[in-house]
Amino acid sequence: MRQRHKPWADDFLAKNNQLVKANPMNHKANWQAVFGNENPIHLEIGTGKGRFLVGMAEQYPDVNFIGIELSKSVIVTAAQKIIDSELDNILLVNMDADKLCDVFAGDEVSTIYLNFSDPWPKNRHEKRRLSFHTFLEKYRTILNSTGEVVLKTDNRGLFEYSLVSFSAFGMKLEDVSLDLHQLQDPTNVMTEYEQKFSEKGHVIYRCRASFIG
Ligand code: SAM
Repeated sequence: MRQRHKPWADDFLAKNNQLVKANPMNHKANWQAVFGNENPIHLEIGTGKGRFLVGMAEQYPDVNFIGIELSKSVIVTAAQKIIDSELDNILLVNMDADKLCDVFAGDEVSTIYLNFSDPWPKNRHEKRRLSFHTFLEKYRTILNSTGEVVLKTDNRGLFEYSLVSFSAFGMKLEDVSLDLHQLQDPTNVMTEYEQKFSEKGHVIYRCRASFIG
C-alpha cells in the first residue's frame, strides 16, 4: 500500500484516541467492556484504509470489530472513514500483528480476517507473511474454540502458501474458493484492494480455516 508520510498523523491519532486505542495492552482480556457489550470480537489484521471494517460493521451491528494496522499514515484514513460512518462497533489499534498476544487474551477473539495481506514473495521474507506459522501460533492463542481465520487475496502464490501453512499447522479448511466473486455472495464486503484488483480482472481467492483438536 502506498504510504505517504503524514506529519499530522500523530496529532490526529492523539485527538482520536477513543477510536484508535493508544495503549491497547491496557485492554487485554477486557475488550468487550471497552465496547460496553458482550458481543463477539472480530479482528482484521492489516486493515488498510478501512473499507472492509465499515462495511462489515454496518452489516453486523452485533459484532465488535477491531482493525489492526501497522502504518500510521494508513490508519488515519481508516479512522476518518469510521468517524464519518458514525458506527460505534469499530475500534482501531496501530500496532504490529506480531504483538497480538500482548493485546488480546486467550479465547478473546472469534474471527480473524486477513485481507490482501502483503505477499512477501521472497523466501527470505517468509516469516513476515501473516500466514507464517509464528502468526498462526498467536491466532490459535487468542481465538476461541470455534474461532476461525478468513483469508482473501488475489495473490495466487500467497494463497497456495497459506493453504499449505494452515494444513501443516493442523488447521481445518472449512471452505476454499478459487473465484470468490463468481459465487456472487451478497454478504461479501469488498476491501479497497479487492475492489481495485477485481476491476483489473484479477480472480479473488478466499478460504476459511479453524483450529481443531
Ligand atoms: N486489507 C486492506 C485491503 O485489502 O485493502 C489493505 C491491504 S495492504 C496490501 C496490507 C496492509 O497490511 C497494509 O496497510 C500494511 O501496513 C498492513 N500490515 C502489513 N503487515 C502488518 C503487520 N505485521 N501488522 C499490522 N498491519 C500490517
